[in-house]
Amino acid sequence: MRSFSYQRAENPSAAVQALTAAAGNRPFTEAESLPLAGGTTLIDLMKLDVMRPRTLVDINPLAAQWSAIDLSGDHLRLGALARMSDVADNADVKRHYPVIAEALKLAASQQIRNMATLGGNVLQRTRCTYFRDVSYDACNKRNPGSGCAALEGFNRSHAVLGTSDQCIATYPGDFAQALMALNATVEIAGRSGTRNLPFDQLHKQPGRSPQVETTLEPGELISGFLIQGRWPRSVYLKARDRQSYEFALASAAIALDVQDGHIHDARVALGGVATVPWRAREVEILLKDQKFDEMLARRVAEAAFATAIPRKHNAFKIELGQRVIARALHQAVTMEV
Ligand code: SF4
Repeated sequence: MRSFSYQRAENPSAAVQALTAAAGNRPFTEAESLPLAGGTTLIDLMKLDVMRPRTLVDINPLAAQWSAIDLSGDHLRLGALARMSDVADNADVKRHYPVIAEALKLAASQQIRNMATLGGNVLQRTRCTYFRDVSYDACNKRNPGSGCAALEGFNRSHAVLGTSDQCIATYPGDFAQALMALNATVEIAGRSGTRNLPFDQLHKQPGRSPQVETTLEPGELISGFLIQGRWPRSVYLKARDRQSYEFALASAAIALDVQDGHIHDARVALGGVATVPWRAREVEILLKDQKFDEMLARRVAEAAFATAIPRKHNAFKIELGQRVIARALHQAVTMEV
């Protein structure tokens, strides 16, 4: 057991100040001071001795400002401290953004959804076994410069897209892909106020620095997510080892605008197969202004994995991922809105 101190932040600026004071120049995941919201990832990783913050800044008192689910006109704002279950069960979200409701529902058990927040969910860390077990020395993400045990180890759950020779860990979440398919913006509170960032610029591929997972600056906090427009024709499809709550082997979040049988606009994001929530832009380009049929679905699904690099145990993810995309597209095109 490592000792740590606990502080409660009563307002956003106190939270930012407390986090900034101890942040130094370390990336968010390695900062000495970390925000505590639902705690469903952080506390697990502290118990496993993977994350070792010296200070936890409890930001739950900010829920009054940061947990609203607000649809006004064609703008949806989701507060970062909204609980997953509240958002998944919200009538507006279910009706106008089914991809969000589905992704959240399939992400975790009811108990976890009742605790976990949206902000924490998008920042959850990989399930790579070698990362989560400190008895393995070689993990560049946990211990920079030490190597990667997964490259030659058991890598069935690992990524085939966005990998590097330093890390092939899969981004484990579901909700992030829904946000990406909806072209969401993330709202970030920091020392100089609030800034907005396209959601697909939040996560970083491992490259040479797998320990740097996001573009958040030291001391910054996610305060909310913004979505323009309504996307009733949107789906989240997730393939996993069991029907009960489990991380994705391959998943697809798809939002379509279909007019007169033609796909006017398409947004596609993949999960379970990549090191970050993966925007499949090549798929979107190929779908634009096309009439949907099964041939097109197969063609775009193949294009999505054109740059995939399989390892010893995870090559099956390429075909599985292609099938998930094709099926999700079929569901999105044929759903009644
Ligand atoms: Fe660590 Fe990444 Fe390698 Fe897993 S895949 S052992 S997280 S460096």
